[in-house]
Amino acid sequence: MVDVVLDVQNLRAGFPTPEGFVKAVDGASFSVRRGETIGVVGESGCGKSITARTILRISGTSDQNLSGRIEYRPPGRNAIDLLGLRANGPEIRAIRGAEISMIFQEPMTAFSPVHTIGNQIVEALRLHRDVTYEEARVAAIGMLKRVEMSNAERSIDAYPHQLSGGMRQRAMIAMALMCSPQVLLADEPTTALDVTTQAQILSLIREIKEALGMSVVMITHDLGVVAETSQTVAVMYLGRVVEIAPVRAIFNDAKHPYTKALLASVPKLESRERLEPVSGMVPSPFNRPSGCPFNDRCPAAMPGVCDVRMPSETNVGDEHTVSCFLYGGDEDGSRRVDGL
Ligand code: SF4
Repeated sequence: MVDVVLDVQNLRAGFPTPEGFVKAVDGASFSVRRGETIGVVGESGCGKSITARTILRISGTSDQNLSGRIEYRPPGRNAIDLLGLRANGPEIRAIRGAEISMIFQEPMTAFSPVHTIGNQIVEALRLHRDVTYEEARVAAIGMLKRVEMSNAERSIDAYPHQLSGGMRQRAMIAMALMCSPQVLLADEPTTALDVTTQAQILSLIREIKEALGMSVVMITHDLGVVAETSQTVAVMYLGRVVEIAPVRAIFNDAKHPYTKALLASVPKLESRERLEPVSGMVPSPFNRPSGCPFNDRCPAAMPGVCDVRMPSETNVGDEHTVSCFLYGGDEDGSRRVDGL
């Protein structure tokens, strides 16, 4: 039986704005297995970050604008429906940072600029564990060494602005891992870094994930990051997961036209072919197309079908599902087209 630690089903999250209601997540479903890394990939504006923030209940979405189910299954305890918890209540605060942690693209989001990183990492541990300040400080130095922070004994007393971008990122990872979480939500953790530091941080996350046996949700717009880190890939478009499959199936046998377009836009070492950017733009959330959300950019869109109804999820292979009328996604499956 598949050992799932986090199960997200039919998640919807939105915000009222002066211009109208924004559907940021529109029925997203995926599950995260214990010990695996799942890459959640898609262009900016596809709802990836809001999905992660909603898991931790830090998206700012009010309860009446949230629906679906996010089930966290801690080892040895009953499953907890995170959407059933009060957004800032004691139950979610006990889970946040201790059992499910998050790292962000910009570490300044996680750190206060007016306290040393050491004090903040120490507090992150003492919030959840009954340890003295001195014990927590020793543990923090140990974790800073583990994330290969240069001169950890001195760096622990630095303020965030005194560290380079790469070192700040290491400090944020250290803070997120202080309580050995079951799940790490990594939201574009390397996007702001140079290529060398990016490779170091990704390999660090991979090593620590193996050592702690935790699961990672790797949110990224970069298929290269997914290829390097993930066992499973969920492709998101306009708030929905449109394709989900093992990483090899995504790179060798992608089905959804959006996944294919993303892959065609990635440079390949062995190829001199011209790159094809994904045509068009992610539509504004106030101007979502009717029917399949990708239909106004899709080269295979079928008028009268794709712009009228939403395709449902179809199983197309081993643990490989896709939401597209080309592969079923329809009650009678009569519009199946092979070889696209
Ligand atoms: Fe394209 Fe239609 Fe498939 Fe949507 S359902 S991805 S518009 S073919």
